[in-house]
Amino acid sequence: MPTGRCHCGACAYSFDDAPTRASVCHCADCRRCAGAQGVAWLAVPSGAFRLAQGEPAIYRSSPGTERHFCGACGSGLFYINEEVLPGIVDIQIGTLDDPDAFPPAALIQMADAPAWVETLHTLPKFDRFPG
Ligand SMILES: [Zn+2]
Ligand SMILES: [Zn+2]
Repeated sequence: MPTGRCHCGACAYSFDDAPTRASVCHCADCRRCAGAQGVAWLAVPSGAFRLAQGEPAIYRSSPGTERHFCGACGSGLFYINEEVLPGIVDIQIGTLDDPDAFPPAALIQMADAPAWVETLHTLPKFDRFPG
């Protein structure tokens, strides 16, 4: 059963096996809310989802949109919008205990992405900080 949590551990969740969809969103709302160039999301049917611990704070980034985050450590956790994604809890993949379990299948909202996102994969890579 997949599980995940915020950085401090106050909020934790799990979900049952169910059809899921994973993508990395680059919309301007995700960018500002996360303070990052993109956010990897896993869409899980709300019936399969369980909040195991804690009570996330909610920020309404646009009408009908709830962005749930840990009020103690600030980790972004879930996105719920019954109009745009009915019956879905969108989970921030970075909070999964196994972030490799659901690889994204698409980059979406690229119209809003910073231009340098296109060439990220060409940059030099280091396992840790460069020496
Ligand atoms: Zn936390
Ligand atoms: Zn987005």
